[in-house]
Amino acid sequence: MLIGRVKRNGRPILVSRLGPDWFNFTQAWMDMRQAVDGETAPEITDAVELIRSGLFTRATLSRVGEFVQRYGRMEQYRIEKPARWCPPGRPGKVLAMGRNYRAHVKEFDNRMPDSPVVFSKAASACIGSGEPIRIPQHAGRVDYEGEVAVVIGKTCSGVTPSAVREYIAGYTLINDVTARDMQRKAMGEGNPWFLAKSFDTFCPVGPVIVLADVFDWPPVIPIETRLNGELRQQSDTGHFIFSLDTIISYISRYITLEPGDLVATGTPEGVGPLQAGDVVEICAPEIGCLCNPVTSGE
Ligand code: ZN
Repeated sequence: MLIGRVKRNGRPILVSRLGPDWFNFTQAWMDMRQAVDGETAPEITDAVELIRSGLFTRATLSRVGEFVQRYGRMEQYRIEKPARWCPPGRPGKVLAMGRNYRAHVKEFDNRMPDSPVVFSKAASACIGSGEPIRIPQHAGRVDYEGEVAVVIGKTCSGVTPSAVREYIAGYTLINDVTARDMQRKAMGEGNPWFLAKSFDTFCPVGPVIVLADVFDWPPVIPIETRLNGELRQQSDTGHFIFSLDTIISYISRYITLEPGDLVATGTPEGVGPLQAGDVVEICAPEIGCLCNPVTSGE
């Protein structure tokens, strides 16, 4: 129960998976609407648009899956397992949590926060799995941060912790790439560190979004980060300082979260620097691996 986005013949399409088979969800959805419902459905090629339309649900994904299987059409829609992905969609905003794993707080010698630390990354920084993270010259130290991210399912404002679950559409992975030297300098001077988090390509997302109800509540999602094949981060979302319901409820007091918005939930211990030539891979069993090479460039 997942959705991803790839380019095919130069155009983006949504893809999903049935067992081992990846298929063209965009085309199957339109064909199903035509064949079964007799309606011409719009072409949807962005997961955020799918969520906004209320279609990223178990019911819709099952229905399309059944259509593809029942009529033996898999051959028609099948695609090769993608190696290079687009970000699943273009979110309205990307929010992130600082200091949400105890061991990571200790690693940077920060004090334990008494309320969630929330910051923003530019949505334009999003790239897909397989696309290069580009580190400009003179950027100083740039770190990877492997994180689980929440994908918001519907407009969310002033929700109580006990209601948060119903506002979550799914989960994905984010690499919260950070220009660390620039961030530290900004913090030391009492300035915001938005720029240090928001360089172009500094927000790999994906490879796919997995439907929320695939997980228990609260979800305990294991996450691992490997740098050039070597294990660097290993934890799970059961180690949060602030639970998911607290985080989303807290943010929603001040900011209206909208369908497709991403909330990265913080990184565990083991962050470290990236260099051109590295490959950084963030994996979770249900979500897959968000894998990005690192290049230097303006
Ligand atoms: Zn982070």
